[in-house]
Amino acid sequence: DYCLSWGVLILGHAYPRVTEALLRVVKEGTSFGTVTKPETELARLIVEAVPSIEQVRLTNSGTEAVMSAVRLARAFRGRKKIIKFEGAYHGHADYLLSKAGSGLATLGVPDSAGVPQDFTAHTLTCPFNDIEAVRGIAERYRKDLAAIIVEPVAANCGVIMPQAGFLEGLRNVADKYGAQLIFDEVITGFRVSYSGAQGFFGVMPDLTCLGKIIGGGLPVGAFGGRKEIMELLAPLGDVYQAGTLAGNPVAVRAGIETLKALKETNPYRALEEKTKKLCEGIKNTGKNSGLSIKVNSIASIFSIFFARNDVRNYKTAKAQDTGLFKRFYHGLIKQGIYLSPSGFEANFLSTEHSGGDIEKTLKAVDCAMKNIGGN
Ligand code: PLP
Repeated sequence: DYCLSWGVLILGHAYPRVTEALLRVVKEGTSFGTVTKPETELARLIVEAVPSIEQVRLTNSGTEAVMSAVRLARAFRGRKKIIKFEGAYHGHADYLLSKAGSGLATLGVPDSAGVPQDFTAHTLTCPFNDIEAVRGIAERYRKDLAAIIVEPVAANCGVIMPQAGFLEGLRNVADKYGAQLIFDEVITGFRVSYSGAQGFFGVMPDLTCLGKIIGGGLPVGAFGGRKEIMELLAPLGDVYQAGTLAGNPVAVRAGIETLKALKETNPYRALEEKTKKLCEGIKNTGKNSGLSIKVNSIASIFSIFFARNDVRNYKTAKAQDTGLFKRFYHGLIKQGIYLSPSGFEANFLSTEHSGGDIEKTLKAVDCAMKNIGGN
């Protein structure tokens, strides 16, 4: 399994420390409608780990975390516009389902049925890795630009690395125009490193969104950042945010045990080495099979594009041969190897993937590639 519940299960399925703790706590009651000790314990672990987070609030999902972070960023300076990147996914809030190309994208034409055009009117989109496009939009909207939201490693149109200087460039543009920089680390948080992509790249956002790994397989999201901004949240401030089950003691227990296991065992280097071995093997197999493939990876995240050119943004990701991917995917499934089911999704490794698993996967990749025809 390289989907791993879309990146959640960094410790693999049914990790004993997590499941045993869950069985224990479930007997103590599952929801209390007030803050519990485990909620604050998870919050503390997050604040300690993620360098830019001074205060944090828990939610039930990544979608909710992003919605609240954007609301806060808008309230902070009373501004409306946000910049997101083409091909980025930030959950399913109406105004974030905007990613169509060219001028339409800039104007925020909705990409999902059921989203009225005016709901995305304040969402401006740019190509990932194109700092000049970001500068252009920021210059145009200036004091109306509330936030730039970015997946620091794009991982929802396949995996795309930020080019050298791109994240720093976003930080500079945000500072110049007084906008908030939001890192959506729902995938990269506790995945790229224990301190997330921000720790890995050394670029600090104003607000961070988390999900996936921090719930250890149960529904937990979180958003946090600079105290000055977070204090605008109700009940201290007037930015409303709530959730009946947010910070639920069972869900946070899975997150606590997962983060503690990661902190104690520090598996990140080993994960990266395994991932490199797998990706190198896939690249070589592609070459030997006469296929044009590009494998993008960082830490324990990777994706395979059946494409001739390097993938550096949504446009180049869309140039991949999706028919070939489909045949490849089914070729692997038949051999018991489960990738994320699209060339526009990321794949992940867990601490539980063994050297034997990697070898087995590479043999299956070789067989699948030989049987899918060419591009
Ligand atoms: N942000 C990113 C980068 C994601 O990848 C996802 C989900 O895949 C979300 C936000 C939404 O999180 P959730 O599915 O928990 O609502």
